[in-house]
Amino acid sequence: MKQYKIAVIAGDGIGPEVIDEGIKVLKQVAELDSGFQFNFTYFPWGCEFYTKNGTMMDDDGIEQLKEYDAIYLGAVGFPGVPDHISLWDLLLRIRKGFDQYVNIRPVKLLKGAHLPLVDVRREDIDMLFIRENSEGEYSGAGDWLFKDQEHEVVLQNSVFSRKGTERIIRYAFERAKKDGKSLTSISKANALNYSMVFWDQVFEEVSAEYPEVETASYLVDAAAMLMIKDPKRFEVVVTSNLFGDILTDLGAALAGGIGLAAGANINPERDFPSMFEPIHGSAPDIAGQQISNPLAAIWSASQMLDFFGYETYGKLVLDAVEQLLVEEKVLTPDMNGNSSTSDVGNRVVELINSLV
Ligand code: ATP
Ligand code: MG
Repeated sequence: MKQYKIAVIAGDGIGPEVIDEGIKVLKQVAELDSGFQFNFTYFPWGCEFYTKNGTMMDDDGIEQLKEYDAIYLGAVGFPGVPDHISLWDLLLRIRKGFDQYVNIRPVKLLKGAHLPLVDVRREDIDMLFIRENSEGEYSGAGDWLFKDQEHEVVLQNSVFSRKGTERIIRYAFERAKKDGKSLTSISKANALNYSMVFWDQVFEEVSAEYPEVETASYLVDAAAMLMIKDPKRFEVVVTSNLFGDILTDLGAALAGGIGLAAGANINPERDFPSMFEPIHGSAPDIAGQQISNPLAAIWSASQMLDFFGYETYGKLVLDAVEQLLVEEKVLTPDMNGNSSTSDVGNRVVELINSLV
């Protein structure tokens, strides 16, 4: 029997509550198949760990995580610890340390999830965002010149390498080809006259290798408008780190809200573990009350199943989530329900069993 070793970093705030429900779902799926099993190892990393140890994770954390098949992350960040520390000292260390250069975020309005207040049909909101996750605007390079002087100047550099740009665009073409979908590139070459001109050029070059994939290219400002006004234009979408960050939050609002949005940080070569997480944060305002919505964490568990090659089970989990949304009986307060976090997880498990 295949054993998958999953490193669980439940993290802060609502992280542990939503991760508990995702793990319930993964355990249930493993019960249905005698071919594989999950072994979960918990790591106590996050802001509480930081308060005691002055670091978000063990110094050799990356070394420790290396031997796992995947990482399942709740959320990190809590009042009292600056956001840039929780981000750089844990999340970005893992993303960069394991070269998880692909960030995959579905923007799909499930059956039962509420339509946003725009004139579109449910079927029109079904996109797959592929965001560059290792460099670009989030390279971390920059300088602070003449600090605290009258004429201070701050530089924040974007880094677009040939390797980094080509591999994300190629990944997106492969995905579009596999799914039989079109591919849209989003950039801003009129204003960013080096980085985005280069991005567009690489997109065009790689595009020549995939004549079977229909392509489109938009400026990011136009794309933001069209995602709302005419979302059916977008199927698979490839974009840079910053643009992907912003547009997928817009996507989350289109596709039923932050309580539903999931994301995967993928190392396609599989020489390191990939990481699966809900895209929401630790939501300290509602932590510890069992009212957080676990569906984003459950959707990211479904992405993990897809990644391991169990796409049928990944779909089964999403079907169960859709069924739950259509029933409108067991929902958390953010979706106008009055059920608890674990009620929702338990109901998803029941629905999985009734659907197999
Ligand atoms: P980050 O800095 O990590 O992006 P944030 O503090 O900007 O996070 P979140 O923590 O994602 O934002 O949450 C913003 C608000 O959305 C929360 O205060 C909470 O009210 C709500 N929220 C987020 N996630 C959930 C969830 N899973 N269920 C219910 N409400 C949520
Ligand atoms: Mg926050």
